Amino acid sequence: MSIESSLRADIVEVGRRMYARAYTASNDGNISVRLGSDRLLMTPKGVCKGFMSADMMCVTDLEGRKLQGDRDPSSEMLMHLEVYRQRPDVQAVVHAHPPIATGFAVAGIPLSRAVLAEVLTTLGSIPIANYATPSTAELPEAVRKYITAHDGMLLANHGALTVGADLFSAYFKMETIEHFAKISLVARLLGRENLLAREEVERLQQLRGSYGIKAPAPICPDPAQPIHGQAIEGTVTADDVATCQVVEAPSGSGQRLVPDSVLGPPTRAASPRNHEGAEIRLTYRELSALIEDAVRSLR
Ligand SMILES: [Zn+2]
Repeated sequence: MSIESSLRADIVEVGRRMYARAYTASNDGNISVRLGSDRLLMTPKGVCKGFMSADMMCVTDLEGRKLQGDRDPSSEMLMHLEVYRQRPDVQAVVHAHPPIATGFAVAGIPLSRAVLAEVLTTLGSIPIANYATPSTAELPEAVRKYITAHDGMLLANHGALTVGADLFSAYFKMETIEHFAKISLVARLLGRENLLAREEVERLQQLRGSYGIKAPAPICPDPAQPIHGQAIEGTVTADDVATCQVVEAPSGSGQRLVPDSVLGPPTRAASPRNHEGAEIRLTYRELSALIEDAVRSLR
């Protein structure tokens, strides 16, 4: 199978999964991948992503001119083109309307709190791009502010966008965002959200390096003052763009995630003679250090 045939089949598969998981309804959502250095393979306009076939895809150049395909490319093509322009490292772009994450986008609540280690190591923070009319040039403009520093974002009153070094990594980030949104919603309904400490967030960033998961930008040293830079030259306008990720995490060195007062005293004391059943309690920091050592010893 040629690379192009295999990528066409991958787009069909990702579309089917997005529809099956209700990340899209009807003809919503769109998917694209780089096809070599100067062409893109993209889902067509006006088809349900759950029922696509490989021959439906469009081939365009990086300016959006159609080179091949019976159908017109996605109505959100301009947003995809903007991502590829700003992020030479990105190979694939996925856009969908997963309902819980989109609920946060409608409520104007970014997913930027330090809650789950795996979200911090794969995506960092997930900001909200300003509302823009879908399919117009406004949308790439709104996305430009965050795409340099983030691999995933919410689109206000619209949906979510993820990017990756290949199609499945972009798609899995969409899954992670929706999963994170669900967990955040449940925690907020339960009335409490215990955040990871800033020191722990920094440690996770280092772990990310040792796992080889490249972050597009560092965590902002001061969340209250995000750093802004300029978009890559050649764009329509040179708006300020985020160059670091805002993560809400309280400072508090070595604090236990769950205080002793909540857990109560250990039920069985550890004794040198009887380790079986003894409870070992570690701080997140200690657990991360153990994982880090284990990863190092595997090399
Ligand atoms: Zn959309």
